[in-house]
Amino acid sequence: SIVITGANGQLGRLVIADLLARGVPAEGITAVVRSAEKGADLAAVGVRLHVADYDEPSTFADAFAAGDRVLLISGSEPGRRGPQHQAVIDAAAAAGVAQLAYTGVFGGPDAWFALAGDHRVTEAAIVASGVPHTFLRNNWYSEMYTGDVAGIVARGAVANAVDPESRIATAPRKDFAAAAAAVLTGDGHLGRAYELSGDTAWTFGEFAAELSRQSGKSVTHATVSPAELKEILVGAGVPDVFADILVEVDDAIDKGALAGTPGDLSTLIGRPTTPIADTIAADLAKLG
Ligand code: NDP
Repeated sequence: SIVITGANGQLGRLVIADLLARGVPAEGITAVVRSAEKGADLAAVGVRLHVADYDEPSTFADAFAAGDRVLLISGSEPGRRGPQHQAVIDAAAAAGVAQLAYTGVFGGPDAWFALAGDHRVTEAAIVASGVPHTFLRNNWYSEMYTGDVAGIVARGAVANAVDPESRIATAPRKDFAAAAAAVLTGDGHLGRAYELSGDTAWTFGEFAAELSRQSGKSVTHATVSPAELKEILVGAGVPDVFADILVEVDDAIDKGALAGTPGDLSTLIGRPTTPIADTIAADLAKLG
């Protein structure tokens, strides 16, 4: 079976849709979910559900079988993910799975920012487990920036602590999902680490200009100081610790840590990655 954890999440659902579109039979896919109710539509098309929680290692005891190909989609609580992922790795090793693919972070062990810490720990644990593995080191999702196009257009500005010249090579979730589906269904991916990013690295000035063009409203990019950004985030209700993490992410972007375009993503998916302009258009269209 092909087993997907975090299957009810936005990326997980796109991976399953991609597997089905590639002709993988639904009964050959297992969706690991916390809520069977939320996964009812997957069960309805024949996908097997396994209910488990990263915080309850025993719930993974019978999640996998020998020969399974498993995608571990990283959890959503930074700082807790090391032990959470270890539970999945231990179960995968005990079952003797054929492949454990893991969604890490662009740069892998070289990514120095705090958000990358859990991924570094997890990749090391997977290597130590001896389970045949594939690392999918995802750059940022384009939707992290296009998700709030309504707010950005209303304010007329995208403000962050990123220098106007700094670039980021995002791609939308559907491209990363297609890469995951490719390594879960193809051969030659064991022991490989893929640095997955969009084909084109863009600046926030370009992003603002494209948003202006498509919305017909003036949008500019404003670089604020890290301290100002933290104030904005905390003012918007972001918890202090997480605000620090996000400020540091902007510092990483500023220093070019997410600007690389090695081409691994387009190679894996067999087509160019989706340009940021297309994701802007898709999210503007949702506004109606
Ligand atoms: P989502 O938040 O949509 O999905 C995360 C999934 O993880 C959910 O299905 C959630 O289950 C599941 N999950 C969380 N905690 C647990 C747990 N304790 N036990 C079992 N399952 C759990 O995120 P995305 O799909 O958008 O992204 C996938 C992952 O990518 C994120 O979890 C995060 O690690 C990382 N990420 C990457 C970003 C990037 O730009 N590259 C940006 C943001 C996150 P449930 O449905 O029950 O809540």
